[in-house]
Amino acid sequence: MTESSQRQSDVLVIGGGIHGLSTAFHLAQRGVSVTVLEAEYCGRHASGVNAGGVRTLGRHAEEIPLALASRKLWHGLRETLGDDGGFVASGQLKLAETPAELEECRLRVQSLKALGFDHEVLIDQAQVFDIIPTVARHVVGGIWVKDDGYAVPYKVVTAFRLAAERLGVKVHEKTPAHRIEQRGQQWTVSTPGGVYSAEHLVITAGAWARELAAQVGEPVAAHPEGLMLMVTHRVAPFCAPVLGATGRSLSFKQFANGTVVIGGKLIGSLDFAARHGEVDMTRLGTSARTVTDLFPHLKHLGVNRVWAGVEAFTADDLPVIGASRKASNLSYSFGFCGSGFQMGPGTGQRLAQQILGEHSDISLDAFDVGRFDSVASASPINPVQPVISVPHH
Ligand SMILES: Cc1cc2nc3c(=O)[nH]c(=O)nc-3n(C[C@H](O)[C@H](O)[C@H](O)COP(=O)(O)OP(=O)(O)OC[C@H]3O[C@@H](n4cnc5c(N)ncnc54)[C@H](O)[C@@H]3O)c2cc1C
Repeated sequence: MTESSQRQSDVLVIGGGIHGLSTAFHLAQRGVSVTVLEAEYCGRHASGVNAGGVRTLGRHAEEIPLALASRKLWHGLRETLGDDGGFVASGQLKLAETPAELEECRLRVQSLKALGFDHEVLIDQAQVFDIIPTVARHVVGGIWVKDDGYAVPYKVVTAFRLAAERLGVKVHEKTPAHRIEQRGQQWTVSTPGGVYSAEHLVITAGAWARELAAQVGEPVAAHPEGLMLMVTHRVAPFCAPVLGATGRSLSFKQFANGTVVIGGKLIGSLDFAARHGEVDMTRLGTSARTVTDLFPHLKHLGVNRVWAGVEAFTADDLPVIGASRKASNLSYSFGFCGSGFQMGPGTGQRLAQQILGEHSDISLDAFDVGRFDSVASASPINPVQPVISVPHH
């Protein structure tokens, strides 16, 4: 095989996070030859450093069909990938701490029912205490989703990568895509290690995807943020499900090793040029207080590690998934706004179906990149002039 034929595939994927690797896996399952280019190493950013929450609870209505499809794949991960990625179907519970919050929960469940969704269930105080006997007594109820859970992020990314490689996917790490160009029927991608080409290009570059979309003149109102997490010392098991709160920001889970992971879309600071998120200890302190309000016995538990990962947020809090509106044979999947880990398996499958023209009942209309056509991009990051001129399709 010549060097240039090794750099040629049916599909090129830019970005080795969960979305790139899941898309590559699902394409390869259908017999497509795929190459993944990853600037650093797979799972280096959001997909490998997130809180591991596998949550359909509290999703935007537009995301629910895709999130439910993804949830099916989470439950069968071991059969599909040969590794369950540490997935535990622990259930997820969103707590109401006041009667007004419980009413908010009731209205949410009612509005989902009207849309035909019954996966979120309203529960009362006694049911909450049955599920978590250790929670503070002021909690009045909440919303329960029994089939949600959590997984181990880096294990999941690695499982997708290895399963994709077993199907023939080539993964090139330390290979940043610099310039993307479409010439005739081919996309070419320049990297420091040479040029790669394919008929179809998929951009799954997380917080950096917007810069690549700008190269084809596609505006996306998105911006990067540093999201923080903290992990405590080990403590005896006291809470099986993943917890969230209604009136304040919280995402909280205890892993089997006893450590407690505390997050909840906590925004830290970001050095985007250095590809690095930084923690803000004051904001982490507020989160720690929410946890000790709910579990006073944790008051003197030490925090072991804190970190921040880089994530892409869009202006309307919905991801960009699907075909480009500016170029042919170009697809996107990015901008998951702090909740894209759960969506990884299902979105990769759905995008592979779209690329191959397979039918699906799950609409991607709400995630169409064309919705940003009329808006100026938020906070420009190194704006790049389009390098190609291609017709709309
Ligand atoms: C702290 C934190 C906690 C979170 N908690 C949860 C949670 O509990 N549940 C949940 O569902 N979601 C959670 N999320 C969100 C979730 O992690 C992300 O939505 C998801 O991982 C995004 O995956 P991705 O593949 O789009 O992006 P990423 O994982 O960021 O992957 C993109 C990859 O593209 C690479 N790349 C960028 N530019 C280029 C280029 N030019 N060439 C080649 N490669 C490139 C990057 O190096 C990176 O590896 C959390 C996120 C963070 C940061």
